[in-house]
Amino acid sequence: MPLIPCPACGRQISTEAEACPQCGHPNKPIIFVDDNSGPSCYACRKTATTRCQSCGQLSCAMHVNSIYVSHGRGGGYELRCNSCYSYAQAWQVIGIVIAAIVVIGFFIFVMGR
Ligand SMILES: [Zn+2]
Ligand SMILES: [Zn+2]
Ligand SMILES: [Zn+2]
Repeated sequence: MPLIPCPACGRQISTEAEACPQCGHPNKPIIFVDDNSGPSCYACRKTATTRCQSCGQLSCAMHVNSIYVSHGRGGGYELRCNSCYSYAQAWQVIGIVIAAIVVIGFFIFVMGR
């Protein structure tokens, strides 16, 4: 059973004890309620409420962007941090360009016969 020092008298008490047996100081589990001590957004100092679904960076609601990303078969909307968002956007453009080249190439192939 792990022991912790009583914050009031310093005696080693069980973490599961409700109060210190020596001085009666209540032994409550340490809960971090301070907003500033929580995980914060990668881009600002706000408390992170969500995270990038691509790289996992913690983010506030303001600094994630929803973008449609395709993975193999099908795809879906993902919340992404700014850098992953622009990366996905770049790949969308590249995908359109590749699709256009394939279509044009196919037409040239068909016409040339
Ligand atoms: Zn105590
Ligand atoms: Zn933010
Ligand atoms: Zn990311």
